[in-house]
Amino acid sequence: MMAGQPILILKEGTKRETGKDAMKNNIASAKAIADAVRSTLGPRGMDKMLVDSLGDVVITNDGVTILKEVDVEHPAAKMMVEVAKTQDSEVGDGTTTAVVLAGELLKNAEGLLEQNVHPTVIASGYRLAAEKAKQILEEIAEPINLEDDETLRKIASTALSSKSASMAKEHLSNIAVKAVKRIVEEVDGKRYVDLDSVQVVKKQGGAIDDTELIDGIIIDKEKVHPGMPSVVKNAKIALINLALEVKKPEIDANVQIRDPSMVHAFLEEEEKMLREMVEKIKNSGANVVFCQKGIDDMAQHFLARDGIYAVRRVKKSDIEKLSKATGAKIITNLDDLTSEELGNAEIVEQRKIGEDNMTFVIGCVNPKAVSILVRGGTEHVVDEIERSVKDALHVVAKAVEDGKVVTGGGSSAVEVALRLRDYAATVGGRQQLAIEAFADALEIVPRTLAENAGHDPIDLLIELRKAHKDGKVTAGINVYKGTVEDMKELGVIEPIRVGKQAIDSATDAAIMILRIDDVIAAKGESKGQKGGERGGSEEE
Ligand code: ADP
Ligand code: MG
Repeated sequence: MMAGQPILILKEGTKRETGKDAMKNNIASAKAIADAVRSTLGPRGMDKMLVDSLGDVVITNDGVTILKEVDVEHPAAKMMVEVAKTQDSEVGDGTTTAVVLAGELLKNAEGLLEQNVHPTVIASGYRLAAEKAKQILEEIAEPINLEDDETLRKIASTALSSKSASMAKEHLSNIAVKAVKRIVEEVDGKRYVDLDSVQVVKKQGGAIDDTELIDGIIIDKEKVHPGMPSVVKNAKIALINLALEVKKPEIDANVQIRDPSMVHAFLEEEEKMLREMVEKIKNSGANVVFCQKGIDDMAQHFLARDGIYAVRRVKKSDIEKLSKATGAKIITNLDDLTSEELGNAEIVEQRKIGEDNMTFVIGCVNPKAVSILVRGGTEHVVDEIERSVKDALHVVAKAVEDGKVVTGGGSSAVEVALRLRDYAATVGGRQQLAIEAFADALEIVPRTLAENAGHDPIDLLIELRKAHKDGKVTAGINVYKGTVEDMKELGVIEPIRVGKQAIDSATDAAIMILRIDDVIAAKGESKGQKGGERGGSEEE
């Protein structure tokens, strides 16, 4: 009776793809994302110029930055963007590698699907392979010493060599290593590095080589009054979260003045109140004031007269940073201000950086207060240098925390692939095919490095495999010469965590995409709505 009558269970306008179609489309869009970032991999990789809907330009070769900027529509493509984001938040480097690897895992899975290997078999084979791959990485990793600055600098330098910052990589590596060593903590024999303690401040102008490590905190503000000292030695710092102003009545008050002397009295009263405020600050012994709110002109004058250095409208986050660095307590009532609440630093001074004056708080009581002042010719350069410096900080931090490193330039990928193939043979069955496909996928790293450097990927890969068969565990690609060389000798070194995380995030995404055989999409919303939503949720 009902034969041939379709039963509608989905709302009108819903789009649905099932089975092979769904899987094909998912894989195709995930691969498209991987292809989009592939050309940026490695020291000879290219940059991308991204222009957003407002015309703002970003120039970068940082995988995660590229993918955050592009507005992808397809759900599987979105999952690839997540790969980059996870990699970035977990280890701060290897974002392009993770995405490219995920793309290759899916491409090779496609081949297996065509041979009628079931997606769940591929998934379980990939899972086994990922576990084994991480284990192999542990086997080939080498320990490093915290005192070994030379190696730490090589790690930073490897991360920087694929950036436009590479011309200043020695200088920047040096800074990254010094910064991390300042903030490393040891708890129960384990090392921790909290990179939030390193403040990275960028200021357009100067050269990349002018980027410097500052032993303290930088506040991007100048002193409020020219009569204030430019340098305060042995600084006693007050952090104030209230306005040094006389409150205007909130309601419209009407004060009738009949006598000119009353005007005088009025102003005098105001001046007296401001003078008292400054008096309280002075009596506490403070010679530097950071105020989160405004400072009245008259109060500025009094502060200057008393030789106090003052900055107004300091960001809340900066006030908190200053509190942590100098030991000062944040005051909300001037009556609470005593010498007890003040913080200490060796020097507070105003320096002219480029066009602007900035306040430097040097030699804070907390020795972990360090900053990096990033310089560079144009806005786009400083932005990219900032990203690069952060990458360098991350890799050094992870290497210090884990104390283990592997060699790059495709060397570890090829070694892991070689040993994985041996392992696959011991597993057998259809899973063996999946593990072999995983091993092949890992070789996308050296292949892409060679390709981006303009060398023949096939010849180099064959030579590389041979070197590894001969026991040369650290043989990789010298991208500048197009030859197979010992990466350890070349100083191409990476923290083990970058590789392990890339394997994890790429495998997770590939498996997740492989297990989908049904895509049900609700009716699209209007463009205008979407734009607004995106702007709001992508804020960091
Ligand atoms: P990711 O976003 O994945 O970090 P990069 O563009 O930074 O991508 O490239 C990282 C890759 O470049 C790694 O595989 C690393 O081993 C390789 N690499 C870095 N420096 C060199 C070098 N001097 N020679 C060969 N390969 C290098
Ligand atoms: Mg990198």
